[in-house]
Amino acid sequence: MKALKERILRDGKCFEGGILKVDNFINHQMDPILMKSMAVEFVRRFAGADFNKVMTIEASGIAPAIMVGYLLELPVVFAKKKKPSTMENMLTTSVYSFTKGTTYTVCVSKDYLCPGDKVLFIDDFLANGNAAKGVIDLVRQAGAELVGMGFLIEKAFQHGGDSLREQGVHVESLAVIESLDNCQISLRD
Ligand code: 5GP
Repeated sequence: MKALKERILRDGKCFEGGILKVDNFINHQMDPILMKSMAVEFVRRFAGADFNKVMTIEASGIAPAIMVGYLLELPVVFAKKKKPSTMENMLTTSVYSFTKGTTYTVCVSKDYLCPGDKVLFIDDFLANGNAAKGVIDLVRQAGAELVGMGFLIEKAFQHGGDSLREQGVHVESLAVIESLDNCQISLRD
């Protein structure tokens, strides 16, 4: 998606270890106009898919996911990273975060991820695919069906996308980064 790629090149910042910081428009300050355009693009790319729910993981996936849910008038459920003491009927899974170097628990209530639900997952980044694998596990535990996964930015050099596509998951990424070597942002055409 042209507007996103241009914004990444303009405002994205590279960090050691293959991390791209997009705090200027996604992860801290947010650009709602761009966010809406990205949601419109997801709606276009998943137009042929049949789903009744949009899912994401807190926190940075919530903004794009709610834009998609708003456009399609569908509920949006976000998996939580901390286990609330009050949550009942909980499904949990573990996710390794390479950016933080820790494993954390992700949970969702069975009240909001239900048997028969057809789920479109939306998130900010796809790197190694650990968060995505956690979501696949939650969807499986719930007896729901994963219809597709949409990411704002995929870092192709970490191969999470390859693994998901090999499993037959419909993955759409709005900008694909080939490399961040030498702190140079190299985008796929
Ligand atoms: P994965 O689980 O696919 O390895 O990583 C995906 C998650 O890690 C995303 O939800 C995102 O929060 C975080 N992440 C991975 N790579 C980056 C990055 O380069 N920049 C930022 N800001 N977050 C990232």
